[in-house]
Amino acid sequence: MALPPVYGHDDVRRKLRSALRGGNLPQSLLIHGPAGVGKERLALWLAQLIFCDSPLEDGEACGRCHACRFVERLEHPDLHWFFPLPRPDAATPEKLREKLEESRGAELAARRADPFHIPAFDKAPAYFMGMVQNLQRFASVRPAMGTRKVFVVGDAEAMVPQESSPEAANAFLKLLEEPPADTTLILTSSNPGALLPTIRSRVLPVRVLRLAQAEVAAFLAKEKGMKPAEAESLAAVSEGAIGRALRLLPTSGGSGVLQRQRETARSLLVAATAQSAADRLAAANGIAPAGARGEFTSGLQALSLWLRDLMVVASGAPEQIAYTDDVALLNSIAKKARVRPEGVASAILRVQEAMEMAAGNVNPQLILTDLLRGMREDLVRAA
Ligand SMILES: [Zn+2]
Repeated sequence: MALPPVYGHDDVRRKLRSALRGGNLPQSLLIHGPAGVGKERLALWLAQLIFCDSPLEDGEACGRCHACRFVERLEHPDLHWFFPLPRPDAATPEKLREKLEESRGAELAARRADPFHIPAFDKAPAYFMGMVQNLQRFASVRPAMGTRKVFVVGDAEAMVPQESSPEAANAFLKLLEEPPADTTLILTSSNPGALLPTIRSRVLPVRVLRLAQAEVAAFLAKEKGMKPAEAESLAAVSEGAIGRALRLLPTSGGSGVLQRQRETARSLLVAATAQSAADRLAAANGIAPAGARGEFTSGLQALSLWLRDLMVVASGAPEQIAYTDDVALLNSIAKKARVRPEGVASAILRVQEAMEMAAGNVNPQLILTDLLRGMREDLVRAA
């Protein structure tokens, strides 16, 4: 399957295009901006621009030549896409290097098969020394197809000295200091502050912003075949990030994580509208401790999607449900609690606040107990 087109970032693309065609594109760049806005996709787009054999008049890649088609299928031999990976078990550094390259290959194969593939690792991914060595090796050989090699290094902030790989960052730094003349390095990061200052000082920063809601909606409608109303309502909670929207997509037998989040959020909604405080407390206790902080936050995100669906049901437009197909549950909640759309809107805001608190250091259980009590006030009208 081919990569989907780039959505948005028109200004950045125009600037990069004219820098490249004017011969002023630096050898090392850092594309930075919020998570999920398409930084790596933008880096791959730039790679395609670099490789394209017959660029269009405005400098854009033709999309038809061999090079273009290889890039779009993630099969270009001179395009090397790196991303943090979990550390495989290996007895020797050499074995580790091999295994890391194998897992990168497997991950790339998954991305080729499904450009929207969301990696799920059981261990924390990072850049280990073996990967940087692989990268160095690819950088030192001549290009296979064209005249240049392009390296996309995603989540570059993971390239920090750490217990597991104290030398990786320094080895990478060496490459940045003296990249081979035929090599372009494109780093991406949603947390550029966490990059080593020595790395930051060697790359041209390119800042990208959140997408417009309409751009996310256009992506969802065209690439995921969502109905305009559904695409709009999902785009509205995506915070201008396609990656975020993808993670929130209703799954049809898809990833277990999303399914679990939706179930968790469902129980939260039921608990929030429950009569007894004890039920709410039980829900908070049962759900809060599970999973990492990130998972807690996505659980809250899922809850706000349930609420959006509740809102359309409460406003008498159940056909606009986007996230869940459980109209029956939403109907019964809407009826029993005599829910008003305004009440749901304040509940959604409350969930957003809870997510902000969760990003801080507040105890998840406290957040939930408070949230569920507040949601009840918002949602349930006294008979
Ligand atoms: Zn081309």
